[in-house]
Amino acid sequence: MIKQILHKSNRDYKRFTTNPNIRAVKVGHLTIGGGTPVVVQSMCSSDTRDVKATLAQIHRLVDAGCELVRVAVPDERASEALPDIIKEAGCPIVADIHFHYKLALEAISAGVAKVRINPGNIGSPDRVKVVVDAAGAANIPIRIGVNSGSMPQDILERDNFKVTAEGMVDAAFREVELLESEGFNNIIVAMKASDVSVMIEANRLFRCKSNIPLHLGVTEAGLSGYGSIKSAIGIGTLLLEGIGETIRVSLTAKPEEEIQAAWWILEATGVRRRSPELISCPTCGRAEIDLIELTKEVEKMLKGIEIPFKVAVMGCIVNGPGEAREADIGLVGGKGKGLVIRRGEIIHSVTEDELLPMFKRELDKLCQEYKADK
Ligand code: SF4
Repeated sequence: MIKQILHKSNRDYKRFTTNPNIRAVKVGHLTIGGGTPVVVQSMCSSDTRDVKATLAQIHRLVDAGCELVRVAVPDERASEALPDIIKEAGCPIVADIHFHYKLALEAISAGVAKVRINPGNIGSPDRVKVVVDAAGAANIPIRIGVNSGSMPQDILERDNFKVTAEGMVDAAFREVELLESEGFNNIIVAMKASDVSVMIEANRLFRCKSNIPLHLGVTEAGLSGYGSIKSAIGIGTLLLEGIGETIRVSLTAKPEEEIQAAWWILEATGVRRRSPELISCPTCGRAEIDLIELTKEVEKMLKGIEIPFKVAVMGCIVNGPGEAREADIGLVGGKGKGLVIRRGEIIHSVTEDELLPMFKRELDKLCQEYKADK
């Protein structure tokens, strides 16, 4: 039924799902892999020992569309803060542990939904076994994180001190085998590099060999502008190939900005959509209207709408209607007048003053039709 409302080219409005052949891993109420939508996650930059500040940051992340939040657990005071954080978080919490197996045990008994460790850093096989047994008893997964900045020395030496995709995959499988030798296969793997091509290749190689879910990210990507572009290339390329079950954009920025970038990557790749897609022309010498301002106004109108239709804003009456034909709804600006379009057809020709109010009326109608259809 909804297909009659949305334009035919935009019919796959539903969230796309991940490859159903990938192992499904439960993380709290979420399932990563196994044909579920790609999960958006981030990591708190707050001091985990400061429960109030950490909860405030988690809530901002959740409001922005984050589904899973990782917190650093560097010491005992941080692990002691976990129960209060978990209780009020409003989303599953992942504990990030680096070296101390006891902190992993404390985090698991505090009720985290997943632990991120490098088993190789935890120490002796006995310690790995204790952590694995505790995660198994709590029925929570372990995420193995291979990072280009902390590769095993022997693999680096083998590869002439270069971080290679093969080296990252070997490092990941070394950890996977360590866990699987303990009978534990509730695993997610991340292989992150700051070199986008290495990150892409490592994940492709891993996926050829395993159906363990992959957490994608370009590490140390940088400030939000350049970092978002690097992340979009790395994560987006893999998502378009059907690789990747959960993503984290790592930016030198507020974590909320990571969530905005993550959703833009999901929406631009068409892998998952939660809001209207706004397309607007780049303008050219034919434009007779301030298209930047017009587009910003339309963007404001779309804020808060969680319906995945396509909206077009075009700069001239001659070519605009044709170029906007893919959109479910759109407007075209001209000199002193404008057009409102739905599904490729002109439905109103109005003066410039009337253009935005008329568009808003049609936008509201489309939203109501969608809701009624649901
Ligand atoms: S819609 Fe018109 S103004 Fe915009 S790029 Fe195309 S021709 Fe130029």
